[in-house]
Parts: sequence; C-alpha cells; structure tokens
Amino acid sequence: MTHYVLPDLEYDYGALEPHISGRIMELHHGKHHRAYVDGANKLLDQLQEARQKGAYDNVGTLARALAFNVSGHVLHSLFWRNLAPKAGGRPTGELAQAIDKHFGNFDAFKQQLSKTAATIMGSGWAALMWDSFSAQLVIAQIHDHQSSTLEGAVPLLVLDAWEHAFYLQYQNEKTKFFEAVWNLWNWNDVAARFADARHLSLHVKNVAERAA
Ligand code: MN
Repeated sequence: MTHYVLPDLEYDYGALEPHISGRIMELHHGKHHRAYVDGANKLLDQLQEARQKGAYDNVGTLARALAFNVSGHVLHSLFWRNLAPKAGGRPTGELAQAIDKHFGNFDAFKQQLSKTAATIMGSGWAALMWDSFSAQLVIAQIHDHQSSTLEGAVPLLVLDAWEHAFYLQYQNEKTKFFEAVWNLWNWNDVAARFADARHLSLHVKNVAERAA
C-alpha cells in the first residue's frame, strides 16, 4: 500500500523572509504538514485493518478523516512549490493570457484571490483552479482542506488562510499576509501546473459545446 511522505522544501525555512518568517515555515512544514501526512497514513492503515477484520462500521468516518488529511497534505505540498524566494511579479505566456481571459485582468484576479482568502470564516484556503469540466480557470474558497472545492478541478495555486500560516508574524492582520505573499508566488511553477492541467478533460466536451 502506498503511504504518503512529507516532501522536503526546495529552500531554507528562512528563505521567504521577510514575507513569511523562518519560525512559521519551520512549524508549518515540520509540524502542521507532517501531522497531515502522519494522519493520512494512519487512516490508510486503519482502513486496511477494517478490511482484514471485515469490520466496516467505521469506514465512513475514516473516509471523511482521510479526505481531510490527504487534502491537507496535497494543498501544503502545492503551497511550498507555489512559493519561492525572490519571486512574485506577474505570470507570463499562456498562463497570463488565461488569467486575462477568465478574470478580465491580473489586478482583478489578484483582488478576487486575496479577498477570497480574507473572507474565509474559520480555516481554509483560497485556490486558483483549472475546472476540467468546463475548461476554465476558477477561484475556489476551500473550507478546512476539502470542503467547498469543485469536483474535477485541479489546484494550480493555493493560499493557506489557516491561522497557523500567519499568526506568529501578522497576528490579527491577516490581510497583510495575503498582500505579502504576492512577493513570493513562483509563477513558473503555477504555469507548469497549468500546462499539465489544461489538457485534462472529464469527457464533457459536448456539455461545454452545448453551453457555448
Ligand atoms: Mn497550513
């Protein structure tokens, strides 16, 4: 059975300063992200044990917990790759064209994403996603790690809005964190994800064509 592994960061914990402190990165990656990986693996083992025992009473509960932990692992793994030291600026090429097409212009996209993050009640993420069902970019507001997202949509860029992502440094001023992160977006990574995802299709071309 495949188990999940905490990925190494491609930069030092302090490399994203001053925008994200090294202490936040150390805790966020080493403790929070690790907990989702460990939690997901434990749940896989519990599901296997349930099958071996023929004891299926709790598999629904385990499935819900697995979705939370695996999604936490996936989103954090993307978030680390979406960020880079001395990055930011604006995307170029086909990703830039797609953002203009689907959101009007880059500033509108930036404002929508930041506001989507800032208006989360409780814990969650704002995410730029490729909706493979209708073949367009969308911004989702994900609650916890896995609720209110779009089935069939592939996350390209994710912004962690849990308090653990910013509180040590920004306290209650989370909008300052959502502003600072624009100095860190690794657009090369986002563009590579877009290039892969845009070829995904849920075989619904007929639906899209009829709607067009
Ligand atoms: Mn987090």
